Amino acid sequence: MQQIILITGASSGMGKAFAMRLINEGHIVYGAARRVDQMQDLVQAGGRSIALDVTDDASIGAAVERIIGEQGRIDVLINNAGYAIYGSVEETSIADARRQFEVNIFGLGRITQLVIPHMRKASKGRIINISSMGGKMYTPLGAWYHATKHALEGWSDCLRLELKPFGIDVVIIEPGIIKTEFADVMSGPMLQRSGVGPYGELARRVAKGAENGKAGGQGSAPDVIAALVSNAVHARKPRTRYAGGFLAKPVMWLRIYLGDRFFDRMIMKAA
Ligand code: NAP
Repeated sequence: MQQIILITGASSGMGKAFAMRLINEGHIVYGAARRVDQMQDLVQAGGRSIALDVTDDASIGAAVERIIGEQGRIDVLINNAGYAIYGSVEETSIADARRQFEVNIFGLGRITQLVIPHMRKASKGRIINISSMGGKMYTPLGAWYHATKHALEGWSDCLRLELKPFGIDVVIIEPGIIKTEFADVMSGPMLQRSGVGPYGELARRVAKGAENGKAGGQGSAPDVIAALVSNAVHARKPRTRYAGGFLAKPVMWLRIYLGDRFFDRMIMKAA
């Protein structure tokens, strides 16, 4: 059945791959992001684009209102917009840390709040939250990013319980390392914060490791995660979590079965 789908962060990377796949599968897809010009290809493929800044309440309200006005419902919300700030805790400003939470948690929370009443009215809906293997494990200099993704895991679990009686499913996606703009957005500012000084050597190692998430690196293509999202959209009874992409399953498995000290050593060696 054709679904009305809203995807945040559809101007690049995974969000764009989800949008393309779901458009090709015959759904009515609204891609939302700040860079509307970067979503022309989605429009040409048959999708719709919406200007959205998840830190701006008015922009979130207008996006949801427009879809309800045009379609009368939203069947699937894919909360994908997000980024990572890296840098030592000592050298990262609280303003930067707050912004990380504004985008990855509070913005996502606000859009979810506005979509729920429409799903509740329809007694059905699916909310798919793009977390990360970083919601279950941790990497050096990523404290604020991991804090948001660990928070998203618990937040989504609670939401799943409270929305189940209304027929609304909540699904968590945990990608591993995926080739998108993510590594570029992360590395430059990290090196500015922590590239010289007491954390300089570690920051340079982490930046080198982040090359894995870029084209030519070892990361997986966004299509790998788009396939998982498609499963989550179409399954009659979706799983609570889908993990995939480079390193996701082995690393999360090791996080469960290795003690903290072993995992610390392994992750520092990998960095
Ligand atoms: P990406 O290519 O950098 O895409 C990020 C998307 O988020 C862009 O479309 C960007 O659009 C949007 N965005 C950022 N800030 C926004 C804001 N304030 N309002 C609205 N949209 C905003 O990175 P990606 O890898 O596809 O990331 C997508 C999600 O996957 C993120 O939640 C990320 O944490 C998660 N993830 C990524 C990886 C990875 O290895 N790549 C691994 C695990 C999880 P505009 O700039 O146009 O607004």
